[in-house]
Amino acid sequence: PEKGENAHLQFEHVTFQYPNAEEPILSDITFQSKAGEITAIIGGTGSGKSTIANLILRFFEVQGGCIKIDGVDIRKLPQKVLRNKVGYVPQKNFLFSGTVAENIRYGMEDATQAQIEHAAQVAQAHYFIMGLDQQYESYVAQGGNNLSGGQKQRLAIARAIIRKPEFYIFDDSFSALDFKTDAKLRQALRNEIKNATVVMVAQRINTIMDADQIIVLEDGKIAGIGKHKEL
Ligand code: ATP
Repeated sequence: PEKGENAHLQFEHVTFQYPNAEEPILSDITFQSKAGEITAIIGGTGSGKSTIANLILRFFEVQGGCIKIDGVDIRKLPQKVLRNKVGYVPQKNFLFSGTVAENIRYGMEDATQAQIEHAAQVAQAHYFIMGLDQQYESYVAQGGNNLSGGQKQRLAIARAIIRKPEFYIFDDSFSALDFKTDAKLRQALRNEIKNATVVMVAQRINTIMDADQIIVLEDGKIAGIGKHKEL
């Protein structure tokens, strides 16, 4: 069988340059991930980590190579179908003025209270939510400005979890969590995701230590790929 046949996500020699940029941000990026695996992407500021995450959602078109999901070039998938497969937690999360529950079930308006609480539990948000004045009916200010950085991240993560997506993309979504919460969340996530494929952009080494593969980016190229022990 051809290599990569069973891959859920494949990058094949992807080269990408932002419109108006002078040179490519990513060159010849090749990796693959099977369903249920966690791929972590690390690298310095500006090395292209977020760009890799964004390309999976087709926010931009690649100039060379291709990205495949279950063997299908993502350019062949309708945008809506593609985005529905992905639970995306962007670096700048967009909490809006409303209740905690509304913020978690955003885009999944018919989610039940039980589903909302389950997502919050996996995201390690349930406990702090229960400590708020009106629990799940508590008010979240525009941008989550009445919450701490770690609380905002956990609500954004719960919002992705409630959708039960095929793919999770976490763009530096754990950076404001203390180490203990970070570890508990990753553990709970492992149990939750089952066959989902996770791409996790991270800065902290302990966040990515148990990833199935770690991709080290340097100047838009893969400088290393493997498990933590191997790198
Ligand atoms: P960080 O750790 O700082 O978030 P990163 O590794 O995630 O960095 P990217 O956000 O992927 O890096 O950005 C890679 C490069 O592409 C940077 O030099 C950045 O300035 C540039 N870039 C990012 N977004 C755009 C855009 N929309 N248009 C043009 N250039 C961009």
